Amino acid sequence: MKLVTFSHGDHTRIGVVDDAGVVDLSSAAPELPHDMLAFLEAGPAAMQTAAAAQDGAPRIALSEVRLEAPIARPPKFLAIGLNYADHVAEGGREIPEHPTVFNKQSTCVVGPGEGIHVPRASHVVDYEGELGFVIGRRCRHVSRDDAADVIAGYTVVNDVTVRDWQLRVPTWTMGKSFDTHGPIGPWIVTADELADPHRLDIRTWVNGELRQESNTKELIFDCFNLVEHLSTAFTLEPGDVIATGTPAGVGIAMKPPKLLAAGDRVRIEIDGIGALENPVIDEPEDTAS
Ligand code: ZN
Repeated sequence: MKLVTFSHGDHTRIGVVDDAGVVDLSSAAPELPHDMLAFLEAGPAAMQTAAAAQDGAPRIALSEVRLEAPIARPPKFLAIGLNYADHVAEGGREIPEHPTVFNKQSTCVVGPGEGIHVPRASHVVDYEGELGFVIGRRCRHVSRDDAADVIAGYTVVNDVTVRDWQLRVPTWTMGKSFDTHGPIGPWIVTADELADPHRLDIRTWVNGELRQESNTKELIFDCFNLVEHLSTAFTLEPGDVIATGTPAGVGIAMKPPKLLAAGDRVRIEIDGIGALENPVIDEPEDTAS
């Protein structure tokens, strides 16, 4: 299934997308929770109910709805640095022995089509196309062999980065967490739909120019390694989003650098999942509220 959070009329709720459109789960299966976090917390039984509800349900055309970030506020939004060898090389670093884990603040999440801000504080804004996975079950101390069981599904993440703020201090939290710098979507593809999440082509375009092109088989620490590693230290919860790292081709590594500017459009596509596209805009005047 492709699980979406969408708005139609005045309401935001969850649904399932297929070729015919969006099944509104709030009417096709009203007993289910109406937001994605509560739905994921409800576990496999809720997934089965959602799958069964598609049969014969009416569809809303995709063009009539607004897709939101599938999870508006993940409990945790983690990301992995330096997880493709070619990206490690373009940054002039060594292949890491351990995953480089950092936080993105969950307030930076936006959905498909929402503007990525060039903030007032810096114009050094860069894209990072990434495979994201979403936790489906509360868990700790998960072995690599059991890791697939705790992943609800996969999505596309743009780990937007303010490079000067990222690199001028030892920890990356500030440079990775500006508001709007966590586009996620367009949906969560449930894990059962992907035969192998580590055999997916991933590509990033800026204004139609191909900037990144790789395959998730190139991940140094794959999704299952990461579940084992992260859950060694802390509890993972339904709705946690982990962005797995970006391949070579980020703007800052180009000669000369090609950073994002207002008017640009970033499109990230992962085979078997979909495409996440966002425009870049200047930070509006009214963000101080
Ligand atoms: Zn990244």
